[in-house]
Amino acid sequence: MLTLDHHPSGRHFLQIPGPSPVPDRILRAMSLPTIDHRGPEFGVLGLKVLDGIRQVFRTKHPVAIYPASGTGAWEAALVNVLSPGDAVLMFETGHFATLWQKMALRLGLKPEFLAVPGTDAATGLPWSWRRGVQADLIEARLRKDAGHTIKAVCVVHNETSTGVTSDIAAVRKAIDAAGHPALLLVDTISGLASADYRHDDWGVDVTVSGSQKGLMLPPGISFNALSPKALAASKAATLPKAFWAWDEIVEMNKAGYWPYTPNTNLLYGLSEALDMLLEQGLDAVFARHQRWAEGVRGAVRAWGLPIQCADAAVYSPVLTGVITPQGVDADAIRKLIHERFDLSLGTGLGKVKGRMFRIGHLGDCNDLTLMAALAGVEMGLKLAGVPLAGSGVAAAMEYFAAHPQPRALAAAA
Ligand code: PLP
Repeated sequence: MLTLDHHPSGRHFLQIPGPSPVPDRILRAMSLPTIDHRGPEFGVLGLKVLDGIRQVFRTKHPVAIYPASGTGAWEAALVNVLSPGDAVLMFETGHFATLWQKMALRLGLKPEFLAVPGTDAATGLPWSWRRGVQADLIEARLRKDAGHTIKAVCVVHNETSTGVTSDIAAVRKAIDAAGHPALLLVDTISGLASADYRHDDWGVDVTVSGSQKGLMLPPGISFNALSPKALAASKAATLPKAFWAWDEIVEMNKAGYWPYTPNTNLLYGLSEALDMLLEQGLDAVFARHQRWAEGVRGAVRAWGLPIQCADAAVYSPVLTGVITPQGVDADAIRKLIHERFDLSLGTGLGKVKGRMFRIGHLGDCNDLTLMAALAGVEMGLKLAGVPLAGSGVAAAMEYFAAHPQPRALAAAA
């Protein structure tokens, strides 16, 4: 029986799409003594992390940091800019888009949930859970809203339940092409610091993110990146807000402080994570994730199993969803792999429960941790009797060997 003090030998392979493995450098930074959150050293830390996180969101505008999980930052985004009964246009890309839509309902908003219609006959899965946001459907819907009753468009940038990204710049263009004043709210909880993201360039009004994915931190802090238009909307919005309200946070952040006790040790970790990401350079970080993703997809193709994302243009660099053959319980395979090889894979969520599993390739990974994960998956699939077309492990080894990371190239030169 598993107990909380279960410590198998060696490292656990945490290949779920967040929380991602936390680098030792960050864990050490977080072990520093907790300091006075009103004292002078804290202000220096606060200003440093606020400046660094703006660079990661690629924004010049304020970013609110909450001691909360991503769900809290979802709520913060909605309650700061909307009023009771406001219509919001959301897009069904998977489980997390669905949860955000349910939250909007609970808050007394009127969400309308667009989706790609139909089901893929080959896998039995809804098409909407295999594709990204369709900006043309958003544009068409906004064009019909002549009275501008829709106050916000809410989309998920990297749908963690499916391994599909969405083209946020295209959504911005669709809103502008329709001549509609709706705010654009984007969840990139699992995309930030792994997949290219540009809050200002893409004209996003509120971006929501969290600590436990590309930022390589434990769960526990989350973010709202703001635009001047969002800040202006927050002055008029009347959904109740107190803890989540941006005004006092933005004001106190000017000196590096918060209106409540912030999560000091996670902010030490954030400071270290920002150093690591900005030292490497965001473009190199994104390229690293793209390369891992391609290696993992090569393995899935070699096994002969379908990749959940059905549109190659929007493959996620963060995770890959693997569809199991009809009648094969993906969760039973995950359980077997966990028990036999101490490897955690992401479960299928919501409408795809039992039909797929997710391999995370984000955060503090490298080629060999991914090779180990793929070996665990391949052994598990074979033990479960899933017929495989070939060896995914061999395919990934070939890909990684033939495509060295830029740093490895430099060392060899
Ligand atoms: N949105 C996305 C895309 C997510 O991946 C998650 C969590 O995995 C959430 C929202 C919810 O965040 P949290 O679980 O940190 O509250």
